[in-house]
Amino acid sequence: AEPRASRGPRPVRAPRGSELSALGWQQEAALRMLQNNLDPEVAEHPDKLVVYGGTGKAARDWNSFDAMIRTLRTLRGDETMLVQSGRPVGVMTTHEWAPRVLIANSNLVGDWANWEEFRRLEQLGLTMYGQMTAGSWIYIGTQGILQGTYETFAAVAAKLAAKKGHSAGTLAGTITLTAGLGGMGGAQPLAVTMNDGVAIVVECDPSRIERRIEHGYLDVRADSLAEALRLAVEARDARRPLSIGLLGNAAEVLPRMLAEGAPIDIVTDQTSAHDPLAYLPAGLDFADMAALAAEKPADFTRRARESMAAHVEAMVGFQDAGAEVFDYGNSIRGEAQLAGYTRAFDFPGFVPAYIRPLFCEGKGPFRWAALSGDPKDIAATDRALLDLFPENESLARWLRLAGERVHYQGLPARICWLGYGERAAAGERFNDMVASGEIQAPLVLGRDHLDCGSVASPYRETEAMRDGSDAIADWPMLNAMINVASGATWVSLHHGGGVGMGRSLHAGQVTVADGTALAGEKLRRVLTNDPGMGVIRHVDAGYEEAEAVAAERGVRVPMRED
Ligand code: NAD
Repeated sequence: AEPRASRGPRPVRAPRGSELSALGWQQEAALRMLQNNLDPEVAEHPDKLVVYGGTGKAARDWNSFDAMIRTLRTLRGDETMLVQSGRPVGVMTTHEWAPRVLIANSNLVGDWANWEEFRRLEQLGLTMYGQMTAGSWIYIGTQGILQGTYETFAAVAAKLAAKKGHSAGTLAGTITLTAGLGGMGGAQPLAVTMNDGVAIVVECDPSRIERRIEHGYLDVRADSLAEALRLAVEARDARRPLSIGLLGNAAEVLPRMLAEGAPIDIVTDQTSAHDPLAYLPAGLDFADMAALAAEKPADFTRRARESMAAHVEAMVGFQDAGAEVFDYGNSIRGEAQLAGYTRAFDFPGFVPAYIRPLFCEGKGPFRWAALSGDPKDIAATDRALLDLFPENESLARWLRLAGERVHYQGLPARICWLGYGERAAAGERFNDMVASGEIQAPLVLGRDHLDCGSVASPYRETEAMRDGSDAIADWPMLNAMINVASGATWVSLHHGGGVGMGRSLHAGQVTVADGTALAGEKLRRVLTNDPGMGVIRHVDAGYEEAEAVAAERGVRVPMRED
């Protein structure tokens, strides 16, 4: 064949509407979602094919991207395209129930699974970093992190309510203290106020505070600790949601607040503690930070770690004083321990504390996108969910606020955490709505790889499993296989997402609702079996909550049968 000229970077945007450019909706859906991941509204560095999360990519290089688009346009409904780390490597005849695309990204053999070897192979053009939803074509922009943070704070509220003997809970009447208003941490103030609480967020970079206020994620800025506390207490007493940005260094502000007996109910942190060169040490000016980190990295690291120890010591102090305290996945406990603070792990990580009980019910970051490109289609799905789950108050609050506050990036999409049974019900309803014309074009239904039964990641999703099975990676493999066997439209199996090379294995699925009876059959199976993996994974690890869900909702677990 004639060699094709390389076309290089160019703006990419998915087609909208109900006209097909491929041979069927399954192929069209993969085509549009690949393009959507690289839409400049969605991707962080579209010219480099980078979608999010450092260097998480949708395609290995522009030639691979072009080849995938070309192939998807002509792929038949009984064929499957194989993608090896962002490059299409084959098309094979399968059948109509088989996925149209199978994706394996960034996988390395155990002893070679480190960043150094990965970078070497990447340099040679042999692999790419797929993160979680970058290389599997179901990233939907910042709505994902906002909803995940909202869900975490909703779970904190539920735990606090249970402690006090209430059944449902919001954060009304409580003050949350946290730090970090960066890319992900910036979702914290809005997630707290969406749960009706008050948040004080300490941030050392004034431009971050301004930016969050501009974007409507943060309400006000306080110029002193005294002012922040006054505003917070007033709002708390009026049970009025409010978020307050406080300029300062968390390693200085938290110990001071503890010493002064500040009335804090919940404490967490999202400073960039995972990288000691990105955490501002106490006593240093923010303006000098970058230069000092570059000039004296070893000295800077030592000072940052000492400050993190002071920061974590104050967090433990708040816990001793009765506050709800948790680590939000930034490794601050580990860094504080490296500095010699022995009680660093006295408070838990957020997954074991709040998210695991949700995983036991098969709940996780379920999401969908409207291939029509019309926000009205998402509004219709929002209404359908309120109708399907009228008793779920937290869901209703999220959908109402998301409708008001979330700006779509790329194709309109929605995320919400639904569990075993709920996802299948939603999928079937959505497919019926496409069939009846209530929704104008097909939807794709997928999820993050950070889900209940699809990931092995001992520093995050599977930290401190009850039976010690944190590093067992058979589960994501089984998850990918059952989704292939159940009729998903594309299935992906990745390594290294979220926490980096050597530290995680995870799988994803996306399934098309095109309104046909066949799509309805596939959706019912995939959206039952996929969250079902979360239930059985947690039954196997000995969680009673999961056993109860399995018994109530009829999930079969052979080792629990006579
Ligand atoms: P980021 O680098 O964009 O932002 C970090 C912010 O912290 C910056 O604005 C910085 O100015 C501020 N900061 C640094 N040192 C400080 C100090 N001493 N006092 C006050 N502010 C300080 O990072 P991000 O994307 O927002 O992520 C934050 C952290 O949270 C990361 O470590 C990330 O891995 C973690 N995180 C984990 C999860 C998860 O596990 N699911 C989710 C979100 C974020």
